Amino acid sequence: MTWDVKIKKWHAVAAWTWDAGDDVCGICRMPFDGCPPDGKYPGDDSPVVWGVCGHAFHLQCITKWLSSQTEQRCPFCRRTWEYKSAGPVQMDAEEAS
Ligand SMILES: [Zn+2]
Ligand SMILES: [Zn+2]
Repeated sequence: MTWDVKIKKWHAVAAWTWDAGDDVCGICRMPFDGCPPDGKYPGDDSPVVWGVCGHAFHLQCITKWLSSQTEQRCPFCRRTWEYKSAGPVQMDAEEAS
């Protein structure tokens, strides 16, 4: 009987995490400094990419998402997906040059 309550609570936490979205991938819901489901290692092997809409995902997650869609749209806001940058580190380097 307590299971029902536990599951509802878990869903509430998951929904909140989804909305916060800043440091969690919107597709796999893993932290950006963590590993996407298909990734072997966090960090350089699991880069984070931004769309022009301002949403960010693991490169592997958005690539997989886009390849499964007929239209290239952000899974979050459904705007046309365009890569904004490969990540904050590279973006800084480009601005400096
Ligand atoms: Zn992801
Ligand atoms: Zn978006």
